[in-house]
Amino acid sequence: MNTRRIKKGWMNLKIKEVILETHDTKTFIIEDADEGGRPWDFYPGQYLTFRFDGISEKPVVRSYSLSSSPNQPDFSAFTVKEVDQGLVSRWLLNEAKKGDILRARGPIGKFYLDPMQGSTPVMMIAGGSGVTPFVSIMREAKYHREHAGLQRHFSLLVSYRSREDLILYDELKKIQLDPFISTTITLTRDLEAGAEFWKGRISPQILKKFTASADLNNTLFMSCGPDEMMKIAVDFLKDQGVPDERIMTESFT
Ligand SMILES: Cc1cc2nc3c(=O)[nH]c(=O)nc-3n(C[C@H](O)[C@H](O)[C@H](O)COP(=O)(O)OP(=O)(O)OC[C@H]3O[C@@H](n4cnc5c(N)ncnc54)[C@H](O)[C@@H]3O)c2cc1C
Repeated sequence: MNTRRIKKGWMNLKIKEVILETHDTKTFIIEDADEGGRPWDFYPGQYLTFRFDGISEKPVVRSYSLSSSPNQPDFSAFTVKEVDQGLVSRWLLNEAKKGDILRARGPIGKFYLDPMQGSTPVMMIAGGSGVTPFVSIMREAKYHREHAGLQRHFSLLVSYRSREDLILYDELKKIQLDPFISTTITLTRDLEAGAEFWKGRISPQILKKFTASADLNNTLFMSCGPDEMMKIAVDFLKDQGVPDERIMTESFT
């Protein structure tokens, strides 16, 4: 991307479509309400900051990572999981509908990865809705493999509660067909699930298994999800001697 298109200030974004992902998660497909499509650029992993004026007494601001990727020029998407008693996520899940206009600025954020920059293998560790920036990154990597012969390895470990909580699962299955991308799902509370799923929370043992064949001296690690999970991941990686500069994190809280 040579010249990055940006829009300054608050943008008006129209909800084009709402997709039910799981019982408590939806993906919102959005387009620029004034110009149509997506007249701005971003790096996979970045987020938009939304401002909601009408859902409580005072305006509230929340950030959502883009789950779509830069190679999808006509729209963008973000994926929201309803949190318990959550003001905005509850409104988005239960009230927001096709045709509504949302206000947002960005995209911004340093937690991004351009798959075409560098060749270091990338290992991603996510919990729940923390999978969203990685779906964007992997979609972009798959696109560049198909269109530019990119041969960089990406591996994702994501933990969900149960088979009912598989956010963006259809997309993960599609991406997984790429020989350079692998996805491992571990379920924390669904011991009956089949052998395609690992069982248990993200822990040093699970991380050891996930990184067993990795060259820890030449891998970039990215983690996104609940703070507690990220701490376990970062502590494990540091114990293994991975330097800070090869560990990137994004907190959703
Ligand atoms: C950079 C960034 C990117 C993000 N991207 C996404 C995304 O792609 N998808 C997504 O679903 N969320 C994402 N989030 C989280 C999102 O911004 C909101 O924090 C979340 O939707 C909760 O907002 P709320 O108004 O519903 O809850 P609030 O009313 O703010 O909080 C209600 C309760 O939920 C707790 N809480 C707040 N946030 C979380 C959380 N993330 N998980 C669990 N408990 C929480 C609070 O401590 C509080 O007890 C992102 C956050 C950041 C900072």
